[in-house]
Amino acid sequence: MASPWIDVSVTLRTGMVHWPGDPPVRIIHAKDMERGDPCTVSLLEMGAHVGTHMDAPAHFVRGGCGIDKIPLDAAIGPARVIAIRDQESIKPDDLVHHRIRRGERILFKTHNSARCWDTDSFVEHFVYISAAAARYLTDRQVRLVGVDYLSVGGFHVDEVDTHQALLKAGISIIEGLNLRRVRPGRVQLVCLPLKIAGADGAPARALVRPIDRVSRKKH
Ligand SMILES: [Zn+2]
Repeated sequence: MASPWIDVSVTLRTGMVHWPGDPPVRIIHAKDMERGDPCTVSLLEMGAHVGTHMDAPAHFVRGGCGIDKIPLDAAIGPARVIAIRDQESIKPDDLVHHRIRRGERILFKTHNSARCWDTDSFVEHFVYISAAAARYLTDRQVRLVGVDYLSVGGFHVDEVDTHQALLKAGISIIEGLNLRRVRPGRVQLVCLPLKIAGADGAPARALVRPIDRVSRKKH
């Protein structure tokens, strides 16, 4: 029997953590049955890079395409969850022994998953992909990279370089995953960003399902 799907998305709600300087999240009832309206309708106010989301090239590359134009199959299919012990950043040395191959979808499970999502305050010292590691990943021609906090790059360090290296190479980016419940190894990934015209990013729902390695019984 296949393993169950694990929801690795972060719940969007008013007051949740957001990137410093980006718009905060505010979700209110524009119409409300409790106030006598015939139905309840929420008003959503948020930046495009809040919670679990995907980045479009337009986020860091001038003239880059919007989230409505990115290839959707990049975020649907087999992927690999790689555990990172480095508590500062992901470096090429952390990656070499994983034998990352061309076309792979790589999700990095760092200390962020256990420590960053329990607070509404922004965690400045989260584990990010160093610019050198981003170049390593582009050299390997991976298809997609997913990280477990709000940016592939760091806070005031390698933010621009890491984003640009990945996006210019056509590598898809998922940010804001919570991989706490996922073990390192092979998974199936499904992640779909909202289709917002020309947007630099969009919130997404992301699921993974571990791929069982149990060999089939022989008859
Ligand atoms: Zn983003």
